[in-house]
Amino acid sequence: MRNVIIIGSGCAGNTAAIYTARANLKPLVIGGHEAGGQLSLTTLVENFPGFPEGINGPDLVENMKKQAEYFGAEYLHGSVTDTDFSARPFRLNVEGEWMETRTVIIASGASARWLGLESEQRLIGHGVSSCATCDGFFYRGKKIMVVGGGDSAMEEANFLTRFGSEVTLVHRRDEFRASKIMLDRARRNPKIQFVTNAAVEHIFDVSQNVVTGVRLRNLKTGEVWERDVDGFFVAIGHIPNTKIFKGQIETDPDGYILSKGGARTNIPGVFYAGDVQDRVYKQAITASGAGCMAAIEAERYLEAEGH
Ligand code: NAP
Repeated sequence: MRNVIIIGSGCAGNTAAIYTARANLKPLVIGGHEAGGQLSLTTLVENFPGFPEGINGPDLVENMKKQAEYFGAEYLHGSVTDTDFSARPFRLNVEGEWMETRTVIIASGASARWLGLESEQRLIGHGVSSCATCDGFFYRGKKIMVVGGGDSAMEEANFLTRFGSEVTLVHRRDEFRASKIMLDRARRNPKIQFVTNAAVEHIFDVSQNVVTGVRLRNLKTGEVWERDVDGFFVAIGHIPNTKIFKGQIETDPDGYILSKGGARTNIPGVFYAGDVQDRVYKQAITASGAGCMAAIEAERYLEAEGH
């Protein structure tokens, strides 16, 4: 029987692990299928306080894990595949094995959103990617396309100009969600070409199992055209990882956990932290802050229950 099981090992989960470990609760962290969370997919993080020259995302998240382990947190590879929050102790199925715990901190984050084209799904890993940091290297001197109009798309497009001969940024509107500074940076980058009011309709070439080009449609004029592309990066946001809690943990229509104040979900003893609930800020530092809050809530809950 565990005091605390933390689902997810990004900033939120690791910070919750540091706090609950230092409270002597011996937390168990289930790493999840994207261990380390979003930070493990980024390069330089310049806005996490305490690092005046920035720090690499994977280093930052690894440091957090080491810090938690130093105080007694345990980490388990694998994912939670099923949960039973209907009775105490709560039960979690981790890769086929049921575990019992008095409290749960859900820090399962959010995963990349895809366009949903069949050709896109078939070509993931063969020229289609959701992670410029992971896959940009493969497109040295090649033609790259990025889809999206938010900060992620701007960041990825800028980053990919390190590798590609050209980067085309495709956005479905001519207004951008991206912050002004990120948009201006992308606009100033001579290697980035903007294509607005456009949607990608198809990615070639599934029969060759490699990306060779795309078919685009201008959403205002209806004009359709094709363009050669070697690397296709989708940067259109994220989907919260709450499917396994469906019917137990209350979420909004998009799947983000509904807060019951503090870090509390609708089930006493089950807490949330990070992007799994946060559709607004989604920063490493806010996820860490949320992990701290969830840990303190869990500590107080256990104390009130006499543990
Ligand atoms: P986002 O802000 O939600 O932007 C998603 C973009 O994808 C939007 O432009 C949206 O278009 C487009 N999109 C969504 N679904 C689409 C579809 N099916 N087909 C085509 N386009 C689609 O997501 P994000 O860029 O990942 O950013 C998320 C949060 O993280 C934001 O708060 C952002 O500021 C933050 N962030 C910060 C940094 C940084 O500061 N370094 C870096 C990355 C992200 P519409 O605009 O038309 O809806």
